[in-house]
Amino acid sequence: MLLAHKVELRPTPDQVDYLNKACGHYRHCWNHMRAWFSQQDADGHYIFKWTKDAGYQFYMKVLRVEFSWYSEVSSVITRNVIDDLDAAFTQFFRKVRQGSKNPGYPKPKKRGDRDRFSIRDSAKFDVKNKMLRIEKLKTRIDMRQPIRFGGKLKRVTISKRAGKYFASFLVETDEYDPKDVNRQPSVGVDVGIKSLATLSNGEVFENSRLLRNNLRKLRKLQRSLSRKVRGSNGYAKAKLKIQKLHFLIARQREAILHQLSDYLTKTFDRIVIEDLNVKGMMKNRKLSRAIADVGFGMLRQFIEYKAVLRNCIVVIADRFFPSSKTCSNCGQVKKILTLKDRIFECDACGFVIDRDLNAAINLNNYTA
Ligand SMILES: [Zn+2]
Repeated sequence: MLLAHKVELRPTPDQVDYLNKACGHYRHCWNHMRAWFSQQDADGHYIFKWTKDAGYQFYMKVLRVEFSWYSEVSSVITRNVIDDLDAAFTQFFRKVRQGSKNPGYPKPKKRGDRDRFSIRDSAKFDVKNKMLRIEKLKTRIDMRQPIRFGGKLKRVTISKRAGKYFASFLVETDEYDPKDVNRQPSVGVDVGIKSLATLSNGEVFENSRLLRNNLRKLRKLQRSLSRKVRGSNGYAKAKLKIQKLHFLIARQREAILHQLSDYLTKTFDRIVIEDLNVKGMMKNRKLSRAIADVGFGMLRQFIEYKAVLRNCIVVIADRFFPSSKTCSNCGQVKKILTLKDRIFECDACGFVIDRDLNAAINLNNYTA
């Protein structure tokens, strides 16, 4: 099974040089090869028709000779352009044949716009103790985290965003054992506003304080940005700061959601979650922040793919299932329950319970 994991890198200045060069050489090679095979005669016919083999010949006999500095970095990096351009042209011509209005002719690449390169030959890179080796780079690059899955590394793609470098690994793994031991039969999960998640067995997962603080910091920075003059030095600086914080927050949120989804899929055979109508909820400002903050869509995605790996069932409760308004003791449904009501009190049987726990229990009892 192939799984992907993206890790931030902590390159030294020398390593940054290499990574930038590799991005630049890849881009240069792409742009030259693309331009060559895009030339048209007066009648609008391509002078050099693209085929993968023609691309290979052009690469070996022209580009690599003329731009011998391609070999400053691993040669597989620029050579990948042949495959990548082939995929782009193939898709373009297929769409043209299908009569698509927007077939998407392969575009030139610009510096600073999705800078990236990849290595697909596992002999040309490896990872040991959180250190990434790339061919022709003398030192290993420090990684912020280890790769999450054990197994054979098939590919690494290095990308640059907001001044940071990331390595996205494709791993062939057989680490997940579907026949896990002693799991509990079922759980309902209420994704919270106050807490990250409340489980029907009473367990509560809190949002991390670190994440909450960073979100507060982010909002403050955004307010200060709005007071700065567009295009000024201070504006650019504040913008970069915000971008960096965004990445930090995204990483922290992802880590928490991985923890939660790991726990759920390792512990329970059946997991019931709500089908939150995220679009509808976004209309409510207070809720929208909470939903955006916990990244509900991402949580669901994590749970779903790990459920496949660990062989458990995910049940998505119908979007109109009144998980919060139903009494988990007697089944009576309340007409009105506002977001402020943190405690559920049943008008019929007098049952009193934490609102989120009540919802989680109802989800656990849900039958489609
Ligand atoms: Zn009741």
